[in-house]
Amino acid sequence: MAKLRKHHSSTPCLRVGPSEVHGLGAFATRALPAFALLGIYEGRRYSQQEIAAKVRDGQLTYLFTLSNRETIDGAKGGNGTRHLNHACDPNCEADEEYDDAGQLLLKFQTIAPVNAGDELFIDYCLTADDGPPASDYPCRCGSPNCRGTMLADLG
Ligand SMILES: [Zn+2]
Repeated sequence: MAKLRKHHSSTPCLRVGPSEVHGLGAFATRALPAFALLGIYEGRRYSQQEIAAKVRDGQLTYLFTLSNRETIDGAKGGNGTRHLNHACDPNCEADEEYDDAGQLLLKFQTIAPVNAGDELFIDYCLTADDGPPASDYPCRCGSPNCRGTMLADLG
């Protein structure tokens, strides 16, 4: 008998609240060590072709593109992990992993110990295929290493 797949993983380690950096952010509910799992990025999945049409619609808010070119739209069925903000000096990272069914998952984990109440950040490392200026993606993370943009440093 096929085992029922769980469609929404819970994210007990994070809560969503107003961020000082940008809009809403994700915050640690308790102190966490490095490499603690925060949750799986969930949402509706699109193929590369499907997402090309949506990007033209300008619906870009919670998209994550995986290395297999699938895109996950966290605005549809996503969980709290979609509120992790970008920082150039992050305390978390996104990591890809295949599940038992062969689906590529995007896992969020800490990369440094965090305290309860700390805002959680990842480095989005955005790449802009069609080359909009970096000023379209300004970063205000306030880190001493801030690149000033959420785009990946390709230089
Ligand atoms: Zn920054």
